[in-house]
Amino acid sequence: MNIIMLGAPGAGKGTQARVLVEQRGMKQLSTGDMLRAARTSGTEMGNKVAAVMDAGQLVTDDIVIGLIAEQLDGPHTGGFIFDGFPRTLAQADALEALLAAKGQQIDAVIELRVNDEALVDRITGRYTCGACGEVYHDRTKPTKVEGVCDECGSSNLKRRADDNEDSLRQRLMEYYKKTSPLIGYYYAKGKLRVVDGLQAMGAVKAAVAKAITD
Ligand code: AMP
Repeated sequence: MNIIMLGAPGAGKGTQARVLVEQRGMKQLSTGDMLRAARTSGTEMGNKVAAVMDAGQLVTDDIVIGLIAEQLDGPHTGGFIFDGFPRTLAQADALEALLAAKGQQIDAVIELRVNDEALVDRITGRYTCGACGEVYHDRTKPTKVEGVCDECGSSNLKRRADDNEDSLRQRLMEYYKKTSPLIGYYYAKGKLRVVDGLQAMGAVKAAVAKAITD
């Protein structure tokens, strides 16, 4: 089974993708994580996209489609969760073609719906563990011991360079202009399932699980 997690920045795509990895042995493919890794390791592509990412704009379709194509070539059989990809109609078409070439398809698109005010609050308080990827929030989910990850004990807690209000405003603009048309695109294909992303964590998890099996 292959699933797309769709939603504005801060809607909870990465968090829910991680739940599915744990519950169903699926593989999370986050283009945001891949691009951040490319920046950290100082690859030519990473350096090229750094300023674009910090400004909250989308990097070009050919770069992210290339990253995804590389990952789909691997031997994984448990199904993929696409997190933060596709973000444009061109990316959606490319994904369909890449999967079709392997005799596969997208089975469900989960839209995590959250209002803009909640997004600002979620994004500006967010930090993650650089070692295991666990996501925290200053107010709603701080670590039990300050500066130490509850899950793996690492003290490598990080805030993203683009998790500030200016960059978020631009990311939201990009989302509404370029990504939100995908909601209609997948609705028309009969694949869209909408989940209220503002519910308590347990309720969102349950709704995502139900949306996948429906
Ligand atoms: P994310 O971690 O998904 O919020 O992505 C962080 C940033 O990486 C975005 O603001 C974009 O600059 C870039 N990015 C991630 N995925 C894509 C994509 N599918 N298409 C274009 N840019 C992307």
